[in-house]
Amino acid sequence: MNRPDELRGIAHREPVIFERSRPGRRGCSLPQAFGPADSLADIPEDLLRKSELALPEVDEPTVVRHFTRLSNWNHSVDVGMYPLGSCTMKYNPRLNEKLCRMAGFADLHPYTPEELCQGALELWWELEHLLGEISGFPAVTLQPAAGAHGELTGVKMIRAYHRAQGNARKRVLIPDTAHGTNPASSRLAGYDVVEIESGAAGILEPAAVAQVMDDSVAAVMLTNPNTLGLFERHIGEIARIVHEKGGLVYCDGANLNSIVGRARPGDMGVDVMQFNLHKTFSTPHGGGGPGSGPVGVCEKLSPFLPVPRVEKRPEGFRLVHERPHSIGRMKAFYGNFGVLIRAWAYIRELGPENLRRVCEMAVLNANYLRARLEKHLPVARQERSLHEVIFSEKAFEEAGVSTLDVAKRLLDYGFHPPTVYFPLVVHGAFMVEPTETESPETLDEYAEAILAILEEARKDPEILHHAPHHTVVGRLDEVQAAREPVLRWTGPAGDEAKAR
Ligand SMILES: *Cc1c(COP(=O)(O)O)cnc(C)c1O
Repeated sequence: MNRPDELRGIAHREPVIFERSRPGRRGCSLPQAFGPADSLADIPEDLLRKSELALPEVDEPTVVRHFTRLSNWNHSVDVGMYPLGSCTMKYNPRLNEKLCRMAGFADLHPYTPEELCQGALELWWELEHLLGEISGFPAVTLQPAAGAHGELTGVKMIRAYHRAQGNARKRVLIPDTAHGTNPASSRLAGYDVVEIESGAAGILEPAAVAQVMDDSVAAVMLTNPNTLGLFERHIGEIARIVHEKGGLVYCDGANLNSIVGRARPGDMGVDVMQFNLHKTFSTPHGGGGPGSGPVGVCEKLSPFLPVPRVEKRPEGFRLVHERPHSIGRMKAFYGNFGVLIRAWAYIRELGPENLRRVCEMAVLNANYLRARLEKHLPVARQERSLHEVIFSEKAFEEAGVSTLDVAKRLLDYGFHPPTVYFPLVVHGAFMVEPTETESPETLDEYAEAILAILEEARKDPEILHHAPHHTVVGRLDEVQAAREPVLRWTGPAGDEAKAR
């Protein structure tokens, strides 16, 4: 394990690039403009820019160093483990990056006629069927661009289904452990959200659903395993209660990785579920995208799937646009196709046995960390967790520090902190999800770092209150950053005016 004082190296404090700007400094030479000299004369006066374009003026090494230094501040899975819980990030094998860059895929124009892109359509069709097989749904759309977009697609289909029955209904039931996107998607699709409290065991109790379930409820929307990392054991019973009153069951599938190959939501009574391909089936997830949120549906929802649908016909793969009950298009062209290629490759490389092993290793790693730490850190729930483990703030508080202090101090030990203060139902939550590819040695180092920090806290909590000490940027004022974000540079170097 790295002790903080053993970490060495060159760490550059890099300002914004505008501060490096010097008038007249150049990194390239541009050719003389060609075409008629007075071409600007064609632009109407009111569309011409009045002010100078405030671009930084820098030489080539300055540009390269600026961005390279910033990139070194970025933590990535190539530097160390990334144990964020809730987001269930899987390891993305490098091979899949190579495959999705193959010219036959990467250079394909979205308007290519169907006859000339049969390979891409075949991959599309196959991926739909592979995902259907994995999840237990008879039909899948690959169109949505992210998990939350998949949720919206799913809830819109639920609405279209109820409307076709003569009543769109008014409410969606969502447990208090839900991801924030669930209520947001339901609202966007026009539903009121009713929150249901999960039971003492951290999972949803059928009685709590039965109590509020009536024929104004369009659906229940839950995550399984839920945001506490616990399997919703009563899912079958809950589905029965909801179906009895004509409602539908939506499952947020973002945590699918912890049951892949072991259980299928379609078999649990779930009617519709989104996959987060950028979490469960390859594709780097950091940096905000692109993602992909395919949606699987049961038979009765399939008429409402977005168009176009890809079909396998004797003459080849064809796109079908005419489907009278479809909710329409959710995204231009074919979804985020690069993400689909990676997912296809990941599933085909691993095959059923190894997909199951990915899930088992993810669960094993989370429970290994739990076992290593629970003597010293109380777990939030006694129930065995699946892919992630949540510790409560109790042990930190007793040592006079907070969850945030411990998270920040982990940076000094060369580790990325876990998810903190989520889910909200656990006070000061410290939520670790090690993922399936981390070795026992790495997990041990992580556990030892946390224990060393706890020891430090007991001796000298001040060290933690001001951590991190060994990073390029120290403890930030997160409240000010949120309330007064600096979003635009408004002045040249040395200017008094600060960008606000
Ligand atoms: C990540 C996540 C989402 C949202 O997915 P995006 O791809 O970020 O839109 C929804 N639900 C859960 C449980 C998640 O972890």
